[in-house]
Amino acid sequence: MIQGSRTNADPRRRLRLGVAAVLLPLGILLALQWRALVKLEETSAASHRMSLRVFAKGVLKEGESFYAEKAEALAAGAASSAAGDGKLGETFRAIDGTGIKRFFAVHFDTRGRGAVALYDTDGRRLDAAASSPEARAVQFASAPWRLAARERQTAERRVIVEQHDSDNRVVLVPVIDADTRVVGVVGFLLDTAFAREVFVPQLIEEHLAEVPEPLRSNMSITVRDRAGRVVTGALEEPALGEEISPPLRFAFTDWTLEVGNRSATPEQWAEWSFALNLVLTLLTTAALLGALVWALRSAARATKLSQMKTEFVSNVSHELRTPLSSIRVFGEFLRLGRVVDPEKVREYGAAIEAESARLTRLVDDILDFSKLEAAGARYRMEPVDLRDVVGETLRAFEPRLAREGFSLDVRGTDADLPPVLADPAALAQALTNLLENAVKYGGDAKSIGVDLGASADRVTVAVSDRGPGIDAIEHERIFENFYRVSTGLVHDAQGSGLGLAIVKHIVEAHRGRVSVESEPGHGATFRIELPIHA
Ligand code: ADP
Repeated sequence: MIQGSRTNADPRRRLRLGVAAVLLPLGILLALQWRALVKLEETSAASHRMSLRVFAKGVLKEGESFYAEKAEALAAGAASSAAGDGKLGETFRAIDGTGIKRFFAVHFDTRGRGAVALYDTDGRRLDAAASSPEARAVQFASAPWRLAARERQTAERRVIVEQHDSDNRVVLVPVIDADTRVVGVVGFLLDTAFAREVFVPQLIEEHLAEVPEPLRSNMSITVRDRAGRVVTGALEEPALGEEISPPLRFAFTDWTLEVGNRSATPEQWAEWSFALNLVLTLLTTAALLGALVWALRSAARATKLSQMKTEFVSNVSHELRTPLSSIRVFGEFLRLGRVVDPEKVREYGAAIEAESARLTRLVDDILDFSKLEAAGARYRMEPVDLRDVVGETLRAFEPRLAREGFSLDVRGTDADLPPVLADPAALAQALTNLLENAVKYGGDAKSIGVDLGASADRVTVAVSDRGPGIDAIEHERIFENFYRVSTGLVHDAQGSGLGLAIVKHIVEAHRGRVSVESEPGHGATFRIELPIHA
């Protein structure tokens, strides 16, 4: 008979060893990973912020050089144009006019007087009233130079930006003669609408393209004027986190560039990515451990199964040999004519019949089991009244009970039972296996009870005997394939260890469950519960 408990020890030890062998390096790796993540969290917020700074710097620098270059070109041209008004148009035309609204020039006489002359970007002179906002802005900006001309002061040529009137920002270069005395000014008025609507947005767009994702989509960029009004950009929701707001340089110096975050501050971002990385690491670890446990378990299970099968083969061979040799001996007696007494002949015949019945049962068990194992039996489910199945099974089983001298007590067949969805033949087989066990292990009391009943959602049938019963530690294992109890409680009944495994297989295929209640010395009750068919 199979000794079930020893077969398990080895795989379990291997499981523990395997887990330990993986856990140790895994723990070290996790610790290293943790440290790396903490470091990464610290540096990533800083590098995030740094990226914002690099972006802002790039925008400011390019914004500055765009206007400064025009001013430089003008300053260079101003020297040569000082001679005459005719050349001014040419000087202005030579400068790229994007971003410029008007060019202008003022010649001062010795008393510092002189009218403002305005030019378009093609260098054509315009008629402009002295009171126009543009002319007034130029006058305002050139006032100190007018004074310098009157005083006949010398000056250096340099670029001055006057942004008193924010719609008419003036870039101005003093014109000096050979004696470095101020004789006039030239310059241009900036195109504010162009800066606001075209230039700055374009600048931002271009530099944004260099910011790596996902930083880029999390960035919020706003340009504001001195009064805090939005010039361009800005989200509906205020940007999060610390903002970097350096003012623009050279021109539009009252505008500030604010670089913020849409949904998370750099610190939050770093925290999230830390958490995400941690979760991913833990999930990977869990998956790894799960896979390990699963692999070791299935290895253990496979080993156990093959062990059981080997034992089963020797067990079955033994079980087969006994009835076969009895049949051979009885058959030989009959063939040799040694037995003539008709009573004896009948007795031998009956013995041969009983032994072959035993063989048939054994072979049937094995066949049933391999069918269940191989394909997972196909069941033909139909609404069934459990009383019918029990009734038919008992009718077929009664001769056996009578022969073995068992009394049968059936209860619960009077009341109506709700139907269950079942394969009647399969259920009958499960029931037969339980009845056979009740006979095999029923002991000397030779009394079997069959009880039918129903609860709110289940129908039950229980088969009980008054045999030696089953030890509690065996209650689960007896349903395992090939498992047989080998203690002294049960006499040497023959079997394959498959009867209850088959019952369990069938009942579970019916979405039901089978259980045992037993106390050594007080018999055993096997109960099948099946869900009611709605
Ligand atoms: P088999 O009867 O072929 O050994 P089973 O799977 O039917 O295999 O039963 C497994 C074991 O459970 C049996 O070996 C027996 O020890 C125990 N067993 C089953 N039914 C009873 C019962 N009614 N009373 C006591 N022991 C039982």
